[in-house]
Amino acid sequence: MLGFKEILGHDQIKEHFQNAVQTGKISHAYILSGEAGMGRKSLAHAFALSLLCEKSTTDPCMQCHACRQVLSGNHPDLIHVTHEKPASIGVDDIREQINDTIMVRPYSSYYKIYIVDEAEKMTVQAQNALLKTIEEPPSYAVILLLTTNQDVFLPTILSRCVQLKLKPLRDSVVKEYLVQSLKVEESQADIYTAFARGNLGKAIHLAQAEDFKLMYEEVLHLLKHVKDADISELLDDIRRLKEDNLDIYECLDFMQMWYRDVLMYKTTKDINLLIFKDEFSTIKSMGTLSGYDGLDTILKAIDKARIRLDANVNMELAMELMLLTMKEN
Ligand SMILES: [Zn+2]
Repeated sequence: MLGFKEILGHDQIKEHFQNAVQTGKISHAYILSGEAGMGRKSLAHAFALSLLCEKSTTDPCMQCHACRQVLSGNHPDLIHVTHEKPASIGVDDIREQINDTIMVRPYSSYYKIYIVDEAEKMTVQAQNALLKTIEEPPSYAVILLLTTNQDVFLPTILSRCVQLKLKPLRDSVVKEYLVQSLKVEESQADIYTAFARGNLGKAIHLAQAEDFKLMYEEVLHLLKHVKDADISELLDDIRRLKEDNLDIYECLDFMQMWYRDVLMYKTTKDINLLIFKDEFSTIKSMGTLSGYDGLDTILKAIDKARIRLDANVNMELAMELMLLTMKEN
């Protein structure tokens, strides 16, 4: 768990929470929405720490009894709402863990904080049960709903919550973290950063994931041989991606970034603008084999492959059409 100071980015949300702590104007219900990996839990925990900290400044001290209780997962006034069914949060989960306990005054703090993770999984009945509580909450209650998709909430829930949306971090922030804190090599950090699209959790995951390394090797092999290999050999490569359980959409993202690099170098001759800097010589020679129109056609073919997959066209057929375009252009 981190204090606000240690959380990268999300300045507006941090300011909002810190202001609330400083002025004592705390809302009873918040929605934190954003992609998995973006930091909803970190922000919620930093807020909870700040509210419960005995020193009660805008950033938790991490030293006092209350902070230490939160850090060890044992603070009696911080409740993580759980659910038994993996796919849904039911009305009983909300009743038993929130509604039935919320009137019990906090044990050791001024606040009593509930964190509901995966709140988009609340059924309509569960949301209605929660609504009763957030319509007339006791003064000390703070409910934090964490979600990847707040569109599933009832309008009555939305209107009673402060809605805070997490935004992607700047690429430079993500890259710096990978290089400085995780000691990832610069050239690799560029690739993870490009894939993560501002999602720090995803970037960290990619930097540590074996399947990403496997995808990197296999897709790179395919791209390097796309001009000289037979289509049947290339399709064998595609089958191998599938056998290795790699996400075909991520493979397509990879290919798109690769051809963008080829186009970028052909246009600018600037190696610093490339994502795949380590593969510079291959990128350069592929740029000489294809014209601008050809590269544009290839990029469009990758888009089209993605659309075909969405439309449930047979995967191998969709890939074959794309690979033929890559060979011919
Ligand atoms: Zn403290």
